[in-house]
Amino acid sequence: MSSETEEKRSKAQPNGCERAFVQRNKIKWFWAPAFFGFWLLLYVTISIPACHRLPRPLTIQDEETHPDQFIAERAEKNLRELVSLGPRVVGSRQNEMAALKMLSQKMQKIRSGTANDIEVDVQVASGSYVHWSMVNMYQSIQNIVVKISPKNTNSTTYLLVNSHYDSVPAGPGAGDDGSMVATMMEVLRVLAKSDKPLKNPVVFLFNGAEENPLQASHAFITQHKWAKYCKALINLDSCGNGGREILFQSGPNHPWLMKNYRRAIKHPYASTMGEELFQHNFIPSDTDFRIFRDHGSVPGLDMAYTYNGFVYHTRHDKAEIFPRGSFQHTGDNLLALVRQIANSPEIENSAKYAKGHTIYFDVMGWFLVFYTETEGVILNVIVSLISIGICGYAIKLISVNSGIKLEKILKKVGHTLLVQILSVVVGAILPVLLGLFMDAVHLPLSWFSNSWLILGLYFTTFFFGLAIVPAMYFHWTKQDKLPIGQRVQLLLHCHCILLSVLTLIFTICGIRSVFVLMLSCLFYTVGLIINIATRLHTKDVAWVIPHIVCTVPPFVFFAYFSHGFFTTFIPMFGRFGENLNPDLAVAVFSVAVGFLCCGFIIPVLQLFNKSKTIICGLMGITLLCFIIAMTPIGFPYRPETNVQRFAVLHTKRTFHDADNKVRRQESGYFIMPQDRRTYTVKHAVINMTLAQRIGSDCDKEINCGLPLYNQRWHKTRKNSLWIPASEPVLGENVPTVLLLSKNSVSPTRIRYEMQLSGPNHMALFIQPLNGAKMMDWSFHQAPLRLSFEPPYFIYFSWGVNGDPLKFWLELEKPNGNWNSTTLELGLGGHWTHHKELITPDFKKFLDSFPHYVDATPWPASFESRIF
Ligand SMILES: [Zn+2]
Repeated sequence: MSSETEEKRSKAQPNGCERAFVQRNKIKWFWAPAFFGFWLLLYVTISIPACHRLPRPLTIQDEETHPDQFIAERAEKNLRELVSLGPRVVGSRQNEMAALKMLSQKMQKIRSGTANDIEVDVQVASGSYVHWSMVNMYQSIQNIVVKISPKNTNSTTYLLVNSHYDSVPAGPGAGDDGSMVATMMEVLRVLAKSDKPLKNPVVFLFNGAEENPLQASHAFITQHKWAKYCKALINLDSCGNGGREILFQSGPNHPWLMKNYRRAIKHPYASTMGEELFQHNFIPSDTDFRIFRDHGSVPGLDMAYTYNGFVYHTRHDKAEIFPRGSFQHTGDNLLALVRQIANSPEIENSAKYAKGHTIYFDVMGWFLVFYTETEGVILNVIVSLISIGICGYAIKLISVNSGIKLEKILKKVGHTLLVQILSVVVGAILPVLLGLFMDAVHLPLSWFSNSWLILGLYFTTFFFGLAIVPAMYFHWTKQDKLPIGQRVQLLLHCHCILLSVLTLIFTICGIRSVFVLMLSCLFYTVGLIINIATRLHTKDVAWVIPHIVCTVPPFVFFAYFSHGFFTTFIPMFGRFGENLNPDLAVAVFSVAVGFLCCGFIIPVLQLFNKSKTIICGLMGITLLCFIIAMTPIGFPYRPETNVQRFAVLHTKRTFHDADNKVRRQESGYFIMPQDRRTYTVKHAVINMTLAQRIGSDCDKEINCGLPLYNQRWHKTRKNSLWIPASEPVLGENVPTVLLLSKNSVSPTRIRYEMQLSGPNHMALFIQPLNGAKMMDWSFHQAPLRLSFEPPYFIYFSWGVNGDPLKFWLELEKPNGNWNSTTLELGLGGHWTHHKELITPDFKKFLDSFPHYVDATPWPASFESRIF
């Protein structure tokens, strides 16, 4: 060691009180828990509460002192009334009569004594559209449409507000979407009473068939008399119960909507990242927003509750657990937003303002940041380049201060950059391996009820990988002339350069969510500038203070943001299906989130004495959490709150041969597991040992011989289980296809006229046989025009009117051989809301499921016919 460096070292030795903290140019090891505790404390005391903060709900008593405001208690009353009707499935008396009556009466009440014009219209509509590969066909479904307009207006620019009052058969649909219906009703009441004038009319669409799926919005936007005047949309839905509604889709291409959102909103909660995830189909849900956008070109804002998705679409989605504060949150926002957009000059000529995407996010629910995509690109590029520049300057200063030649320092930078890349790679691989391992040892979803296990299992593993690689590098290059404080700074600079380059690459790829990386670089660079300006960067440890201070704001923000993200996604793993290993997905999420939140924090560990021991301690936490995952704490399910989902169809299957004789008939329980841990119920459920995978039927029978009407089930149908059982009791209205006539149109072409009747949810599968080709039909033309693979799938459901559906098919056989069969039809029927059809055997079977299971029971039938 040269005497010059020796001198510099001794200068850097700490004095006085600094000595308690620092030893041999390193921080004493026992400060490490405090270091971790500090960040954990920020997360628990700032980020999490910000994620769950709700405003004080107003009660009816508050009304006098808060005129013209949204009253949460009234919305709550609305919800309780709606939910008391029970599940509101399309075609059921509850949906088509009771809910309609209740809503109509409320509207009549609001109408009386208002200074505005209020028109109420009940729409009954039939139609169809193509949804993925399925023809989604509806008959006589209903909407209640309410238009509120200022007196004597002739404005032809309306704002549309939509939510749905129907529900899935499984549950009362309080969160989804009764809460939004109740909120809309209250907003309508306040607007009707208010003397603050609206400039343009607002159409409130109380949508009667969303879960069916998305039929009523299609009916409205393609057929209703007011549809063509709707120039903007606010869509309100839910995949949870309570919490804050998030704005997760906007536009497309209408930045003025976001501008108005920012102006109006009282409690902002919005995320560009949600929009990108949703639009790239990472989220297994769809909303009416898409229908309005694709079939009506109506731009809008899409908002939904995502909190407590555990109860979504189950019988536990109750009004009692819906917090009043959530009503106030959404109500305040919606009321302000409706006024803002309906009165905005842009809505009157929205095409003029249709320019580009936007980037938006709220900061801790305090305020909204919003800018256009072009501004985003400029910002990302400038920040990245400045960050790289400042890091480069800091590297040069290291050379100047240490007296080591710049080339040598640059060589070190190259090594450090490689080490940092390697550490991220190792850090990413370890949680992924753990995710595979957890699944292999039958412990997936251990964090489903206790989500903190994700921190202990996957985040710690990632941090370990991220920290151990540089620790080993520093260990192996101990003789390096550069003091450790400088080497850690170099590591951080390299991380910042890495992030800046990633920001530039993702910006070029057009990924809007990359603003998070840009923010990371921005705050790091600010810290670095402070260090350079104060010359603290030359010290061994003191530079950490500005660094940490500047890391706190992005950490708190990212932790807030990530907490919302995990809160949304964790429940979804209970319904992503059996094919996805949820632990693998959570491992990947943890790597991404850990990288974002702690990328500038973890390298600081290298400054501690006994850093390798501290880093290995992280693996100790992982091991501990693995042991916990094996105990009842790690068992995923809890009755009422964190249920395991199954759909159980008590099904009768009948297959006919070409002579219309029954060739195969059986009855059983058809079970669709919704998550990865199907085997947990194996020992509890009656006859589960007789269960067979349905897979082999998929090669033999049309649509695997299954009555599925939901498109989403098709992906997992091969893995579904079949347990032989006694025959179901089916309703009177058993699905039937009647051949009305069969005529040859030409020697090679034949036309079938048919009629379909049955319960209000049916699926028709059509398979041409023996070289026959479907040439034309009375159904939606898209499957033929776009040459869909047969069997063609027609989903048909009806609301108030169950009249048979007449249809025709035209098939061609180039050889003109009509002696062989031409056509096979598969016909599925569902009784989605008939409790009386559940047989004692079926009930016994359902009761044998463990109490933490939410099994949705349906009688169903499937029949195949050959023509
Ligand atoms: Zn919904």
